Amino acid sequence: MPHSHHSHSGQFCKHASGLLEEVVREAVRKGFTMFGMTEHVPRYREVDLYPEETALSLDILSEQFHQFLGEAHRLKQAYASQISLLVGLETENITDIDLEKLESLLQRLGRRVEYVVGSVHHVNGIPIDFDLPTYQRALASFNDKLEEEREEALFSAYFDAQYEVMRRFKPEIIGHFDLCRLYQPSCKFGKYRSVWEKIERNVRFAVDYGALFEVNAAAFRKGWETAYPGEDIVEARFYATGLHHCIANNPPFKIIQRHGGRFALSDDSHGPHAIGLNYDRLPPYLQRVGIAELWYLVENNAPNIGGRYVKAVKLDGEWLDHKFWRQNPTR
Ligand SMILES: [Zn+2]
Ligand SMILES: [Zn+2]
Repeated sequence: MPHSHHSHSGQFCKHASGLLEEVVREAVRKGFTMFGMTEHVPRYREVDLYPEETALSLDILSEQFHQFLGEAHRLKQAYASQISLLVGLETENITDIDLEKLESLLQRLGRRVEYVVGSVHHVNGIPIDFDLPTYQRALASFNDKLEEEREEALFSAYFDAQYEVMRRFKPEIIGHFDLCRLYQPSCKFGKYRSVWEKIERNVRFAVDYGALFEVNAAAFRKGWETAYPGEDIVEARFYATGLHHCIANNPPFKIIQRHGGRFALSDDSHGPHAIGLNYDRLPPYLQRVGIAELWYLVENNAPNIGGRYVKAVKLDGEWLDHKFWRQNPTR
C-alpha cells in the first residue's frame, strides 16, 4: 500500500510529462508498493491523432508503444527490490479497428503485457474527455436524435463500447468506469433506464469474470467531488454484490460469491507530479460509499481468464489502518 494500477509518462505519451523512470522514482519516493505502468495503446487512424500528435505518424505511435514496453520491463527489473512494477496497457475503442489491432498485438506480445486497463475515451469516433467543445461535438454527432435525447444516446454508446472491451479482452482493471459524464459530474445515470440497464449488464459481466473496478483519483483533479466511479455506480456494485449474496445462499452458485464487485486504486497519473495526487481525498470517499476492501494485482503462475499471468489479491487488514494515509501522500 498504496497502489496505482494506471499511469502514463511524457516519454511515451504526448499529453503526459516526465520520463517513465522519473515516474517510477517518484512512486518509490511516495512509498508506493505496487505501481502499474499502462501506456495508451497506439491509435490506427490519422483522424484519431490528438492535436499535440500531428507531427507524429501512426507508425511512430506504434513504435513508441513498443519502446514503452521495453523501457517498462527494464525498470521493472531495475527497481524490483524497491517496488512491484507491473507492465500493462490502457485500451481504446474508437472503432472496431482498435479492437482487432489490440487482439493481434496482445497475441504477438504474449507475456510482455502483464495486464490490461479496459477504457473507452471515444463515442462515435470523437473524444469524450478531451475538452468541453469536443465533448459537445460528440453529443452533436447523434444528429439523428432530438437534442434532449443525445445525452442518453451518448451514454448508451459509451457503455456498449465498454462492454465490447470487457467481452473481448477481459481487462483486469476497469478504467474510469463513468468517464462519459466527465463534463457533467452531477448527472445521475439512473435518470435513463436504458443506460442504467447497460451499466448493470457491464457491472455483472465484469464481476463475473473477476475484474477489479478502479477507484480513479484523477477525477478530483478534473474538478469532481468524487473519484471515478461516482457514487451511483458504486451502488451498482452493491446491486451486483447483493445479487451474489442472494445467489450465494444457493450452493451451486457459490463460486460467484468469490467474484464479488471489488475495487483497486489508481492515480491515472500523467507524469511524476501526479503520482498519488489527491489520494488524501480517497479515504473519505471510500468510507462514504462503503468500500470496505481494497484489492490489487500481483503476478501469478497460472493464466487468468484473459490469458495473462496476474491475479487480484485482497489488501491485508483494514485499508484505512495503513500508515500511508497518516502521511501526506501528495507532498
Ligand atoms: Zn492519457
Ligand atoms: Zn484513460
